[in-house]
Parts: sequence; structure tokens; C-alpha cells
Amino acid sequence: MRVRGLTKRYGEVRAVRGIDLSIHPGEVYAILGPNGAGKSTTVEILEGYRRRDGGEVSVLGTDPGRPTRRWRSRLGIVLQTASDAAELTVRETVRHFAAYYPDPRDPDEVLAQVGLAGKAGSRVRRLSGGQRRRVDVALGIIGRPEILFLDEPTTGFDPEARRRFWALVRSLAGDGTTIVLTTHYLDEVEALADRVSVIAAGRVVAEGPPGTLGGRAAAMTEITWTEDGAPRTLATGDPTRTVVELAARFGGEIPGLTVTRPTLEDVYLRLIKGVRDE
Ligand code: ADP
Repeated sequence: MRVRGLTKRYGEVRAVRGIDLSIHPGEVYAILGPNGAGKSTTVEILEGYRRRDGGEVSVLGTDPGRPTRRWRSRLGIVLQTASDAAELTVRETVRHFAAYYPDPRDPDEVLAQVGLAGKAGSRVRRLSGGQRRRVDVALGIIGRPEILFLDEPTTGFDPEARRRFWALVRSLAGDGTTIVLTTHYLDEVEALADRVSVIAAGRVVAEGPPGTLGGRAAAMTEITWTEDGAPRTLATGDPTRTVVELAARFGGEIPGLTVTRPTLEDVYLRLIKGVRDE
């Protein structure tokens, strides 16, 4: 998937102002950014649901500005809004959607994968919000998509369901599915994404693996300890050496030692701070 110089405006609003992205097959790629940054516009253009003004876009070798049915059947899309609460059962719903695809997955296997095997006979209308979301995910993967777009997929999940969902995403990626994930949960990005791009005011402001995004790996680490009964703090770019020096000074155990690297959230907030619509 390749995007070069993508632009889109809505009247006076320049929602996307020249975005470049390259997403590799089998990669889990996260798109982060504040509300209004242009994420949905970008993703909807990739999905073939919104027209662009400028730039080049290729998804599975096709221009999404000229989508075909065959091309659409190779994509899986899990939108933010939950599926319609039909009178159908969970299994009926998934079977119904399976029929739209040339080579669908087995509906019961998919229900087991999303943790809904025990709810297969329940009406979708009777499910909890998190369970309905899992139906959405089941419908997103039933067609055996080559690329799966997930828009805030775990909103409303309890912690156990989120962990289970993460394992599912990893196994799909392990089978070669490319995953494009938009989320506000930075722990989700850290747990899942091979690479992340941060979008603010219609532009990519940083891109890379979560561990090194925005110079994170090289950023200052905070070390705290207790000395002479008082808390001490030091910021260092070379934490290992600092700890070794402290250990030597104390002749072993360093009282109250903590070593804190900047979190992805710290880095993210710094990246989007001060990015303005100009
Ligand atoms: P995000 O997904 O990052 O929250 P969006 O792509 O939804 O950002 O929106 C980017 C900008 O474009 C925002 O200023 C938003 O108000 C505007 N926008 C989005 N969709 C439309 C639309 N259909 N008509 C007019 N303005 C829109």
C-alpha cells in the first residue's frame, strides 16, 4: 500500500495536506493522531469510500479512486459504528456476510477466533456493546481479507477481551494479513504495531516503530533513588552507566532505585503539541 502526496479538502478545510505512507504486506500499521487530524479521511480514501483531491494512492495494486467489486472483496473493514442490531443470530449474521465473498473463512471458526463461539445462537440485538464489536470484527475478517482496516476496534472491550483481540490481530498478521489500525489507545499501539505514523493537522509528523518513534529510544531516561534520606532525580541519555556508577557509589544495592524511560504517550503528546493549522 503506497500513498504519495495525498491531499483532500472539504471547502475551506484542508483535511489532508500531503500525506506519504508505505505499508508493507503482513505489517500491523497504526495511525495515531488527535481528533480532526485527517485520519478517517485518509483511511476512507484508502478503502475506496472517499475521493481524493490530489496525490497517488495504490492499494493491492489498484487505485482506490476506481474501486472494483473484486478489489473490495480483498479488503476487510471494521468501522467505528457498531453493526445494526438485527433480529438474526450471531451465526446467521456471519454466514450471511460470508456468502458475499469468493473464498470466505468458516463462520464457526471465525466466531471461535473472536471469542463468540458461546454466543453463536444468540440474537445480535441481545449482545453487550463489546460483544457486538466482536461481531463487527468477525464480519471484517470473514472474507479472508488481504488488508484489514480496524477503526478503534477495542472501544468498549473489557481488559480480557482486549487481550484476546490483540492475540487475534497478531495471529491474522502472522498469517500474512496486513492490518491498518486507528486507535487512541497507546498501549494497543505498543502491543500490536510494527510501525506507527502520527498525523496532526493533515500531515505525518513522525513515523517509525513504537519503540523508537520521535527519538524515543534516545530520549532522556529518568533515574530516581534515595540518598541521605532524601529523594534524588537525574535525567540521563546513558542510564546503564548512571546505574553502574550509583551501584559503585553505594557499594551494591541502590536504595529506592527506579528507571523510567519516556512512554509512547509522552512522545506522542510532545509530537502533536504545537502542530497548528496554518
Ligand atoms: P480524524 O479522523 O483524524 O478525527 P477527519 O479525517 O475525520 O479526522 O477530519 C479531518 C478534518 O476534516 C476535520 O477538520 C473535519 O471536521 C473535516 N471533515 C471530515 N469529514 C468532513 C466532511 N464530510 N465534510 C466537511 N468536513 C469534514
